[in-house]
Amino acid sequence: MPAESNLRDSMNNPPLKLAGLVLALALLALSVACGGGSSTPVQQGPPPPTASPDVRADYVVSQMTLDEKIQLVHGGASSTWWLQTQPRGAAGWVPGISQLGIPDLYLADGSVGVGNGVGQATALPSSIASAASWDLNEAAKYGTVIGTELRDFGINVNLGGNINLTGREPRDGRTFETKGEDPLLAGKIAAAHLTAIQSQYVIAGIKHFSFNDQETGRPTANVLIDDRSARESDLLAFEVGIQGSNVQSVMCSYNLVNGTWACENPYLLNTVLKGSWSFPGFVMSDWDATHSTVNAALNGLDQEQPDSDYFGSLLQAVQNGQVPQSRVDDMVHRILRAMFAVGIFDHPNTIQPIDAAGDAAIAQEMEEQGAVLLKNTGVLPLSTGVASIAVIGSHADIGVLSGGGSAQVTPVGGPALTEGYPAVPGWSQVIWDPSSPLNAIQALAPGANVQFNDGTNSSSAAALAASSTIAIVFVSQWASEGMDCPSLNFTDVIHSTPIDQDALVSAVAAANPHTIVVMENGGAQVMPWLASVSAVLEAWYPGQRGGAAIANLLFGNVNPSGKLPITFPASTSQLPRPVIATPPDATTPFPVDYTIDGFNVGYKWYDSQNMTPLFPFGFGLSYTTFAITNPQLTATTTGSNPGFQVAFDLQNTGARTGAEVAQVYLGLPASSGESKRLVGWQKVPLTAGQQQSVTIQVNVSDPLHPLAYWDPNALAWTIASGTYTVYLGNSERNLVTAGTFVMP
Ligand code: BGC
Repeated sequence: MPAESNLRDSMNNPPLKLAGLVLALALLALSVACGGGSSTPVQQGPPPPTASPDVRADYVVSQMTLDEKIQLVHGGASSTWWLQTQPRGAAGWVPGISQLGIPDLYLADGSVGVGNGVGQATALPSSIASAASWDLNEAAKYGTVIGTELRDFGINVNLGGNINLTGREPRDGRTFETKGEDPLLAGKIAAAHLTAIQSQYVIAGIKHFSFNDQETGRPTANVLIDDRSARESDLLAFEVGIQGSNVQSVMCSYNLVNGTWACENPYLLNTVLKGSWSFPGFVMSDWDATHSTVNAALNGLDQEQPDSDYFGSLLQAVQNGQVPQSRVDDMVHRILRAMFAVGIFDHPNTIQPIDAAGDAAIAQEMEEQGAVLLKNTGVLPLSTGVASIAVIGSHADIGVLSGGGSAQVTPVGGPALTEGYPAVPGWSQVIWDPSSPLNAIQALAPGANVQFNDGTNSSSAAALAASSTIAIVFVSQWASEGMDCPSLNFTDVIHSTPIDQDALVSAVAAANPHTIVVMENGGAQVMPWLASVSAVLEAWYPGQRGGAAIANLLFGNVNPSGKLPITFPASTSQLPRPVIATPPDATTPFPVDYTIDGFNVGYKWYDSQNMTPLFPFGFGLSYTTFAITNPQLTATTTGSNPGFQVAFDLQNTGARTGAEVAQVYLGLPASSGESKRLVGWQKVPLTAGQQQSVTIQVNVSDPLHPLAYWDPNALAWTIASGTYTVYLGNSERNLVTAGTFVMP
């Protein structure tokens, strides 16, 4: 939870101090060999900037006293940090050591834009919209906005990168921050964000490690899961994200995993992260998620945040022999090497105004690429010559909804509206971003009579709809860190007299046969009124330019091309845990049983249970049509780089330019116990009538293990012998078999 202030500590600006140090280092530098790790012999003098981050970090560590080292391994806040303002409005701060030229670290949130407290920043669409674009180039632009704005605010550590697989619990209030339910898609989208952030000389972070997939009781939730299921689900998403980005910090989560707190969990931190994955960066705790000094230090935590409740005692723990000094050196080495690797020493940031106009344009583009058209009987795209339009509900006259909690952005220009702090979680404010769908719709249909009804009274909304050619109902579901949604229905958790939005849609649809629903929400929803409406557009939380993007999509200036990164269940009864596990009290750990779904997260669960969801993973409509023909599978089971290749023709068979996401899934041999998994995709833009040959390649040696399962006995990724089936299509439920191959 970030401090709520715009205060910027311009008095304590490290770039000048730092510039001097870098120059001094360069002048004093002796000729040293590059490369090597922490075991490399200590240099005679400061290594040059061309030396590896490990060599440079080792040198600085060799110059530090134990007190100085301990200063770097915890935040600088006091225990009552939530009552205070941190420098630069950051959520966390680690004071540097000026005599050694170590700059201060300023840590700020930024999953969907720079977290509030720091200042007005570009409110991007939800991260889940970025995942729904299935477009790594768009995701890189998204990350660049976050990275450049953080840098412009003088922040050098980002706390974004939420990659929890909330498909396990689609009611999770933080689903909007995440990248959906599939480890490969989520990991690759996150990696694109994180790489872009670090290209701006800001340490990126990936979180919350791990299995923090529900907010209910998060400080005491004890997730139960076996090694194989863990490695193939939530941990695989982290593995893909870390491997693809070189991200330098990992935030461990509040919850327990198999009885041990995540921030002192030797399996998570030492065995998997630093062992199997050789992660060279540092592990920081979530805010007050540290529970001990010695256990946490020995089991892999490198930095306590945001204060020093436990790691403030490390000095005594070292002096009395409970924690070896070499472990403290390792913590400091990891933090410093991250700073060197990302460029914090060599490229100190300069506080300057953000590029609000350029970044808003990217926010709009992201929304246009990430919105998902779920239903269309032909009412869309709208004609600019339409006579009249009723725009109903969700403050669509002035703005669009955003998600709450530490990922909340204070939008450029300030909120269109704030609506207080709902009882749960109590501390998180409802903010509507200043982008009016009503105005944008009117601008695209200047001759139309466009009228607004606030939707608080279904009868008056229906009356306006009845007298209009087209009715557009905006429905919204506010969600936030610190809460889970009460259900998958649109539930008003904001107002003391709740608005029944399901009833509102039904009333409007009964009054107007051309009713379109636009949804502003963070994750999966059920839609009891689906059969009665003509079109549904999933806009997620659409960000700073959401109004303009939604209007462009409705009128066909942009052809929808997003695909669901999360399954929409038909009802909560389909979920692995229909009732969210709740804590008995504030302190007693309580079980959250992931042995039910195991590695079958999201669509894999629906496959394993033979259930039909409301909308499957990978689904999304367009205003044009596509045909996938001539699938050809070429398999190689021998040679130095065995794998398979799917080649096919993709044609735009309709009358408009559009883009299709061709998806490749792999069915493993029955002995693996798994049905199928996403192994590749390509988003292909095509003009009307255009045809393109597409090839998607999957290699056995791919470090992301596309063909393998985790063998907990061998402690290794293993390829099962047997027949593999390759599927091709445009959602996990609309597939053709491209062919089969056998692995010996
Ligand atoms: C959240 C983190 C966030 C931190 C700092 C915690 O409550 O779980 O995601 O980065 O606060 O704001």
